[in-house]
Amino acid sequence: MAIRQIVTIPDPVLRNKAQKVSKVGEEEKKLARDLLDTLEVAKDPEGAGIAATQIGVSKKMCVVRNFFPDPAKNGEYTHEDYVLINPKIVSTSKETEIDYEGCLSVPNVYGKVERYKKIKVDALDISGERIKIKAQDFFARTVQHEIDHLEGVLFTDRVVGGVITEQEMDALFSQEGQ
Ligand SMILES: [Zn+2]
Repeated sequence: MAIRQIVTIPDPVLRNKAQKVSKVGEEEKKLARDLLDTLEVAKDPEGAGIAATQIGVSKKMCVVRNFFPDPAKNGEYTHEDYVLINPKIVSTSKETEIDYEGCLSVPNVYGKVERYKKIKVDALDISGERIKIKAQDFFARTVQHEIDHLEGVLFTDRVVGGVITEQEMDALFSQEGQ
Protein backbone atom coordinates (compact mmCIF):
# COMPACT_ATOMS: atom_id res chain seq x y z
CA MET A 1 0.00 0.00 0.00
CA ALA A 2 1.42 3.31 -0.99
CA ILE A 3 0.04 6.71 -1.73
CA ARG A 4 2.02 8.28 -4.54
CA GLN A 5 2.57 11.91 -5.38
CA ILE A 6 0.34 13.11 -8.22
CA VAL A 7 2.30 14.83 -10.98
CA THR A 8 0.87 18.13 -12.20
CA ILE A 9 1.39 20.32 -15.28
CA PRO A 10 3.79 21.31 -16.74
CA ASP A 11 5.67 18.09 -15.85
CA PRO A 12 6.69 16.59 -19.24
CA VAL A 13 5.94 13.02 -18.05
CA LEU A 14 2.26 13.85 -18.56
CA ARG A 15 3.00 14.15 -22.29
CA ASN A 16 4.64 10.73 -22.57
CA LYS A 17 2.90 7.96 -24.44
CA ALA A 18 2.69 5.11 -21.95
CA GLN A 19 4.24 1.74 -22.78
CA LYS A 20 2.09 -1.31 -23.25
CA VAL A 21 2.27 -3.74 -20.31
CA SER A 22 3.62 -7.04 -21.61
CA LYS A 23 3.04 -9.06 -18.46
CA VAL A 24 0.97 -8.45 -15.33
CA GLY A 25 3.54 -9.43 -12.70
CA GLU A 26 4.15 -8.40 -9.09
CA GLU A 27 5.49 -4.98 -10.10
CA GLU A 28 2.40 -4.21 -12.17
CA LYS A 29 0.07 -5.42 -9.40
CA LYS A 30 1.83 -3.18 -6.90
CA LEU A 31 1.51 -0.25 -9.31
CA ALA A 32 -2.22 -0.96 -9.66
CA ARG A 33 -2.64 -1.05 -5.86
CA ASP A 34 -0.72 2.23 -5.56
CA LEU A 35 -3.05 3.82 -8.12
CA LEU A 36 -6.10 2.59 -6.17
CA ASP A 37 -4.65 3.95 -2.90
CA THR A 38 -3.70 7.27 -4.45
CA LEU A 39 -7.15 7.76 -5.99
CA GLU A 40 -8.79 6.85 -2.68
CA VAL A 41 -7.15 9.76 -0.84
CA ALA A 42 -7.58 12.30 -3.66
CA LYS A 43 -10.45 14.22 -2.11
CA ASP A 44 -9.79 17.84 -2.93
CA PRO A 45 -10.95 17.68 -5.61
CA GLU A 46 -12.26 14.13 -5.60
CA GLY A 47 -10.90 12.10 -8.49
CA ALA A 48 -12.93 9.82 -10.72
CA GLY A 49 -9.86 8.14 -12.15
CA ILE A 50 -6.09 8.15 -12.28
CA ALA A 51 -3.56 7.00 -14.86
CA ALA A 52 -0.07 5.64 -14.18
CA THR A 53 1.41 8.60 -16.08
CA GLN A 54 -0.08 10.84 -13.37
CA ILE A 55 2.23 9.30 -10.79
CA GLY A 56 5.15 9.51 -13.20
CA VAL A 57 5.06 5.92 -14.52
CA SER A 58 4.77 5.53 -18.30
CA LYS A 59 2.84 2.25 -18.34
CA LYS A 60 -0.55 1.65 -19.90
CA MET A 61 -2.51 1.32 -16.71
CA CYS A 62 -5.26 3.34 -15.08
CA VAL A 63 -7.96 3.14 -12.44
CA VAL A 64 -11.46 4.34 -13.23
CA ARG A 65 -14.27 4.88 -10.76
CA ASN A 66 -17.90 4.15 -11.53
CA PHE A 67 -20.34 6.03 -9.26
CA PHE A 68 -23.83 4.59 -8.92
CA PRO A 69 -26.79 4.76 -6.53
CA ASP A 70 -26.73 1.81 -4.14
CA PRO A 71 -30.20 0.28 -3.63
CA ALA A 72 -28.98 -1.28 -0.35
CA LYS A 73 -28.24 2.21 0.98
CA ASN A 74 -31.46 3.99 -0.02
CA GLY A 75 -29.98 5.06 -3.33
CA GLU A 76 -27.03 6.81 -1.73
CA TYR A 77 -24.13 7.03 -4.18
CA THR A 78 -21.37 4.51 -3.90
CA HIS A 79 -18.57 3.58 -6.29
CA GLU A 80 -16.64 0.72 -7.75
CA ASP A 81 -13.05 1.07 -8.96
CA TYR A 82 -11.69 -0.80 -11.99
CA VAL A 83 -8.05 -1.38 -12.82
CA LEU A 84 -7.58 -1.25 -16.60
CA ILE A 85 -4.30 -2.47 -18.08
CA ASN A 86 -3.66 -1.82 -21.81
CA PRO A 87 -7.19 -0.43 -22.17
CA LYS A 88 -8.48 -0.06 -25.70
CA ILE A 89 -11.75 1.46 -26.87
CA VAL A 90 -13.23 -1.12 -29.25
CA SER A 91 -16.49 0.62 -30.06
CA THR A 92 -18.27 3.91 -29.46
CA SER A 93 -21.76 5.30 -29.77
CA LYS A 94 -22.43 7.82 -32.53
CA GLU A 95 -23.88 10.08 -29.88
CA THR A 96 -21.56 12.38 -27.99
CA GLU A 97 -22.01 14.64 -24.97
CA ILE A 98 -20.37 17.86 -23.93
CA ASP A 99 -19.82 18.36 -20.21
CA TYR A 100 -17.37 19.74 -17.69
CA GLU A 101 -14.18 17.89 -16.75
CA GLY A 102 -11.34 18.50 -14.39
CA CYS A 103 -8.10 16.63 -13.71
CA LEU A 104 -5.97 15.87 -10.65
CA SER A 105 -2.92 16.84 -12.74
CA VAL A 106 -4.37 20.17 -13.88
CA PRO A 107 -5.32 21.92 -10.61
CA ASN A 108 -8.07 24.52 -10.51
CA VAL A 109 -9.01 24.24 -14.20
CA TYR A 110 -12.37 23.03 -15.52
CA GLY A 111 -13.69 23.03 -19.05
CA LYS A 112 -16.21 21.37 -21.33
CA VAL A 113 -15.09 18.41 -23.40
CA GLU A 114 -16.96 16.41 -26.04
CA ARG A 115 -16.89 12.65 -25.38
CA TYR A 116 -18.68 9.58 -26.69
CA LYS A 117 -21.78 8.86 -24.64
CA LYS A 118 -21.18 5.10 -24.65
CA ILE A 119 -18.04 3.05 -25.19
CA LYS A 120 -16.88 -0.55 -24.99
CA VAL A 121 -13.38 -1.18 -23.72
CA ASP A 122 -11.09 -4.21 -23.79
CA ALA A 123 -8.42 -4.40 -21.09
CA LEU A 124 -6.64 -6.66 -18.64
CA ASP A 125 -7.58 -6.49 -14.97
CA ILE A 126 -5.22 -6.56 -11.98
CA SER A 127 -4.97 -10.37 -12.25
CA GLY A 128 -4.01 -10.15 -15.90
CA GLU A 129 -7.42 -11.50 -16.98
CA ARG A 130 -9.04 -10.12 -20.11
CA ILE A 131 -12.09 -7.98 -19.34
CA LYS A 132 -14.62 -6.07 -21.41
CA ILE A 133 -16.35 -3.06 -19.96
CA LYS A 134 -19.38 -1.17 -21.21
CA ALA A 135 -19.45 2.38 -19.97
CA GLN A 136 -21.88 5.20 -20.48
CA ASP A 137 -22.43 8.82 -19.46
CA PHE A 138 -20.08 10.07 -16.73
CA PHE A 139 -18.29 6.71 -16.40
CA ALA A 140 -17.65 6.64 -20.17
CA ARG A 141 -16.28 10.19 -19.87
CA THR A 142 -13.92 9.10 -17.08
CA VAL A 143 -12.62 6.12 -19.07
CA GLN A 144 -12.00 8.28 -22.17
CA HIS A 145 -10.22 10.89 -20.03
CA GLU A 146 -7.90 8.27 -18.47
CA ILE A 147 -7.15 6.53 -21.76
CA ASP A 148 -6.18 9.96 -23.13
CA HIS A 149 -3.62 10.28 -20.30
CA LEU A 150 -1.97 7.06 -21.51
CA GLU A 151 -1.48 8.74 -24.91
CA GLY A 152 -0.06 11.91 -23.36
CA VAL A 153 -3.27 13.85 -24.02
CA LEU A 154 -4.76 16.19 -21.40
CA PHE A 155 -8.42 17.25 -21.29
CA THR A 156 -7.32 20.84 -21.77
CA ASP A 157 -6.20 19.84 -25.31
CA ARG A 158 -9.84 19.05 -26.08
CA VAL A 159 -11.66 21.84 -24.25
CA VAL A 160 -14.51 23.42 -26.17
CA GLY A 161 -14.70 27.13 -25.34
CA GLY A 162 -12.98 28.60 -22.31
CA VAL A 163 -11.81 27.21 -19.00
CA ILE A 164 -13.02 28.21 -15.54
CA THR A 165 -11.62 27.99 -12.00
CA GLU A 166 -12.88 25.73 -9.22
CA GLN A 167 -14.60 28.71 -7.59
CA GLU A 168 -16.44 29.54 -10.83
CA MET A 169 -17.36 25.88 -11.23
CA ASP A 170 -18.81 25.77 -7.68
CA ALA A 171 -20.81 28.94 -8.34
CA LEU A 172 -22.18 27.44 -11.56
CA PHE A 173 -23.38 24.29 -9.82
CA SER A 174 -24.93 26.11 -6.86
CA GLN A 175 -26.93 28.23 -9.37
CA GLU A 176 -28.16 25.12 -11.11
CA GLY A 177 -29.29 23.68 -7.79
CA GLN A 178 -31.56 26.66 -7.03
ZN1 LIG B 1 -6.80 13.61 -15.65
